[in-house]
Amino acid sequence: MESIENEYAAMRRRHHRAAAATDDALHHIALALEAHRSPASADDMQVDVSPDPDPDPQPGAQPDADSPLDQLRHLHKLAKGLQAALVLDHKSVGATINKLGRAIDAATFPHLGGLCAPNVRLNTAKINDAIASHLFRTGLFDIGHSFLREAHLQLHDDHIRPFRRLHDILTAFRHQDLRPAIAWREENEDALRGSDEHLLFRLHRLAYLQILGTGDRDAALAYARAHFAHFPDHITSVQRLMTCLLYVHKLAESPYRDLVSPAHRDSIERALSREYCRAQGMKHDPSLVTVVRCGTKAIPTLIKASRVAPTLSDLGMDDALPVEIDVGRECQFHSIFTCPVSKEEASEGNNMPMMLPCGHVLSNQSILRLPRGSHRFKCPYCPMEQVGSECREVHF
Ligand SMILES: [Zn+2]
Repeated sequence: MESIENEYAAMRRRHHRAAAATDDALHHIALALEAHRSPASADDMQVDVSPDPDPDPQPGAQPDADSPLDQLRHLHKLAKGLQAALVLDHKSVGATINKLGRAIDAATFPHLGGLCAPNVRLNTAKINDAIASHLFRTGLFDIGHSFLREAHLQLHDDHIRPFRRLHDILTAFRHQDLRPAIAWREENEDALRGSDEHLLFRLHRLAYLQILGTGDRDAALAYARAHFAHFPDHITSVQRLMTCLLYVHKLAESPYRDLVSPAHRDSIERALSREYCRAQGMKHDPSLVTVVRCGTKAIPTLIKASRVAPTLSDLGMDDALPVEIDVGRECQFHSIFTCPVSKEEASEGNNMPMMLPCGHVLSNQSILRLPRGSHRFKCPYCPMEQVGSECREVHF
């Protein structure tokens, strides 16, 4: 990555130098041309009309104002110098672009296509839906509507409205207006029961501290009286907040400075966004973010795999990734069961997880291999004998 950045910086420097030299040379030619058109003013010109880096026209070589032919010769010389300089610059910029391309090729692996399962067909409708949702979820409403139009998609306003409200709430929050957030949380008290019950108190606490931050002690006290009585569970916090009234102009240096830490605001914003998505039945992270996160974790492993075997068929596989990739708990959306005997992931169909009468769980394929001719077999994890027909499918 560093080599790409260095080459890119070199290419930009070279390009800027070439562009500046060209502008400079054009400016000198324009001046010389102007002087040729109005010879009277030529004597007043104090400009060095030789374009750098062409060494041909001598610096300070002014056109002979008495001879239009000489002036034209001089202009011709200047133009030739500019042309030569342009050719040199063009070559030089081209060379740096080539070096940048080589740096990108060296630092990236464009041949991972062979490790993508060829039998998996991407679902265009779902991808478009994910892109549109991402745009609306991140507040890019104009771009989202353009995307819908260009992709010939219909998304009902009922689907977009919740995104817009979330965007309005978060925008107001970032501008220190907590009213939309508090109003939304109060409206959804029932829907959010059992989730982050402290969020409403944290919002009121932040609103109170914001008022206190303006120095208006009376307004802060009035706000506290109007709202904190509804939070008897937070009496200790309320007591601390009330004592803050003594430090109205110096909260940041007071024993209560932890209350005004910017970390609180960030944490409340994240909780607000998370709770809103939960109430709406939306995933907190947009699908595209999850895809990029998984891809970022998977690509280094895939690059290593591609060095061993460039295509899936080299590995005798055609519908699965050639290696197991741990994408982390936050990217796991369903429970999986890995058979402790075969170490294979159990799946729907003929390899379901099965619970033995002793309580241990194995995959169906492992159980079928255990009896070895007899209908009775021993559990591999305890000495209990059992028969296959007593095993039960387990659904997660
Ligand atoms: Zn057992």
